[in-house]
Amino acid sequence: ATTIIDGEAVAADVRADVTAHVEELEAAGVTPGLATVLMSDDPASETYVSMKQRDCEEVGIESVHVEIDADAPAAELYETIDELNERDDVHGILVQLPVPDHVDKRSVLRRIAPEKDVDGFHPENVGRLVAGDARFKPCTPHGVQKLLAAYGVETEGADAVVVGRSDIVGKPMANLLIQKDPVGNATTTVCHSRTEDLEARVGGADIVIAAAGIPEFIDGSMLKPGAAVIDVGINRVDAETEKGYELVGDVEYESAKEVAGAITPVPGGVGPMTRAMLLYNTVKAAGLRHDVDVELE
Ligand code: NAD
Repeated sequence: ATTIIDGEAVAADVRADVTAHVEELEAAGVTPGLATVLMSDDPASETYVSMKQRDCEEVGIESVHVEIDADAPAAELYETIDELNERDDVHGILVQLPVPDHVDKRSVLRRIAPEKDVDGFHPENVGRLVAGDARFKPCTPHGVQKLLAAYGVETEGADAVVVGRSDIVGKPMANLLIQKDPVGNATTTVCHSRTEDLEARVGGADIVIAAAGIPEFIDGSMLKPGAAVIDVGINRVDAETEKGYELVGDVEYESAKEVAGAITPVPGGVGPMTRAMLLYNTVKAAGLRHDVDVELE
């Protein structure tokens, strides 16, 4: 039978571990703090930020929230980051992406102190990850790694295909999978919008990580029987629901479930893990800042 990979359950384990380390930090006189910065009117971004604040509350992380008018000059965002970089009670800073078009995303990511860059997008942290000396692993690929580990999916020597090459998912995911690491050592192929024979690539894979943002475009007929399928995609499609839409992954779950050895559902797979790993990184940042050895699992 196909294993359904339960992201909610694994995320709950991560949160329990994080909570224990928050208590350890508290005992040492440190309250971990995360600052979220929102410069957008996009309702999805607003939802993401408020979920992150709620998550913090649940595990005892103090959260600070700054909202900046989407029309405000970019300088306002830079100044906010500078202030948060200086604050002793803020250990992690997360600028919700995307930022408005008149704001240069690269400059924003470079402005965040690398020690507080809990998304792991600062070039220093990207470089460290690639060099095999990660400080903060980006939340989504790190969460995928945790899922693979939790379900004993063998990555060593496995053929892994990552579909998508974005800076936040595809690239760091592939980088993690090729590391000399218990949840690495995979022979990894990265597919993207210019890949010519996606079917053949996906069809040969023991592990498929789907992160293209295309609703249900990988179906069961494309998969190698027994493959582990991790669906990162979160796509809104029109549906006759109260909200007028529903969320689906990049994988057509019903047909894929019949062929895969293990599969993540959407929602309830990677999404909760991404959120949990942000808490993990924030606690790690606080530990590093105050020299408290937090040995997160
Ligand atoms: P993105 O749009 O930045 O990147 C998409 C990638 O897919 C690109 O690299 C592109 O080359 C590739 N691609 C496009 N068409 C393709 C095709 N036909 N064949 C193969 N590759 C193709 O997206 P992203 O930010 O990496 O996010 C990807 C998806 O994951 C989205 O649905 C997003 O909502 C979701 N997401 C989920 C989480 C989570 O926590 N579960 C986190 C981040 C992103």
